[in-house]
Amino acid sequence: MISVEQALEKILSYVDALEAAEVPILDSLGQVLTEDIYSSVNIPPLDNAAMDGYAVQSKDTDGASSKSPRFLRVIDTVIAGSISEHEVKPGTAIRIMTGAPVPKGADSVVRFEDTDEAQRKKSSTKQSMNEIGILCKAKAGLNIRRAGEDITKDAIVLKKGTVIRPAEVGVLASLGRSKVMVIRRPVVAILATGNELVDINQPLPAGKIYNSNTYSVAALVQRYGGIPKILGIALDSEDSLVARLRQGLDADLLITSGGVSAGDYDMVKDVLAKEGEITFWTVRMKPGKPLAFGTIKGVDKTGATRNIPHLGLPGNPVSSMVTFELFARPAILKMMGKKNLAKPIIEAVIEDPIANTDGRRVYTRAIVEKRNDQYFARLTGPQGSGILTSMSLANGLVIVPEDKAEVKAGEVAQVIMLDWNEELNS
Ligand code: AMP
Ligand code: MG
Repeated sequence: MISVEQALEKILSYVDALEAAEVPILDSLGQVLTEDIYSSVNIPPLDNAAMDGYAVQSKDTDGASSKSPRFLRVIDTVIAGSISEHEVKPGTAIRIMTGAPVPKGADSVVRFEDTDEAQRKKSSTKQSMNEIGILCKAKAGLNIRRAGEDITKDAIVLKKGTVIRPAEVGVLASLGRSKVMVIRRPVVAILATGNELVDINQPLPAGKIYNSNTYSVAALVQRYGGIPKILGIALDSEDSLVARLRQGLDADLLITSGGVSAGDYDMVKDVLAKEGEITFWTVRMKPGKPLAFGTIKGVDKTGATRNIPHLGLPGNPVSSMVTFELFARPAILKMMGKKNLAKPIIEAVIEDPIANTDGRRVYTRAIVEKRNDQYFARLTGPQGSGILTSMSLANGLVIVPEDKAEVKAGEVAQVIMLDWNEELNS
């Protein structure tokens, strides 16, 4: 038997960050930037109004108050996207909308609320709108967003290695970038094995079950940024397995499920040994003890041969998902150029007793809740590795160490938070 850490180390030693590719900014979400991004412009490009109001010379507002307004002549209106051709001179103001460039001569913007504009509009005496009363003293710079206050021309805006989030997509767009260089997403070929399996859009004959692993695994691949390539179902026969495998030889990673337990072990092993190299591991963990790892001879775009890492997950639906989280997920993240490969782990008070009967590391499906600044975890119910709904209920996996025979209710244990992002570790 090997430990979870030994298995992971071996798997990671077979994968590296993939090459960079240029993609539309919206497709880059979650990918790692491979270029430093500089700005060729100031953002905002010009000083502009942060509020709707009047652009004025601040010294014209000295002593202004609601009791003692300062009256200025309104010489123009400027809206966002336009530039006023007028200059604000002493005694004058320009009506200005949020985002509009501050006109020449003005050094502050007095918001509507600090003028008598509303009163003037309401007034039955039809006061002139060619004039405005300023009701407060404006300091120089009031309500002005300075040119370059967000991004200065020639500054580095995003560094190589940044993981793109929605904010980075927005920053790239603010620079006018439509495409960006990022480490490309790995294509992950997914193959289910088993005579008992039927694809989801088919009727279900007696004795058969629907193939769920392909879809839970494909969803996991997508969640972690890879591109799933579904190879369908291989029967437990050499011909069927080889035929399906051949469809996936252009992938960056091959994931099979099933065929690793004692029943089908030999056939799968023989086939995979012919197509590449394969080791069957007994990992000291539960669920998911049998795991296969090796390489398959594949081809790249130019037709040259290359070795594709192959991870053979156990067939049981829970085992395949848990082993994916522990082994395939970090491999995919490493291929994507990510540095944080570990899921966040928290400490929680365990509310149900958990037994560990055979000295393996147990990953128990749990529902984690925070109450009064403390995390609590209770089990999802029966923990059989065929009970896929336990994964659906769970948001965490409680870790019971190999050398611990029992976690008693009320004890504290570590819990892997399945829905938390790895970048929380940075
Ligand atoms: P195996 O590892 O092939 O012996 O499969 C172990 C258990 O997982 C068996 O009960 C299989 O029927 C089940 N199983 C295997 N592959 C799948 C799959 N793709 N979808 C759902 N259940 C599966
Ligand atoms: Mg099988």
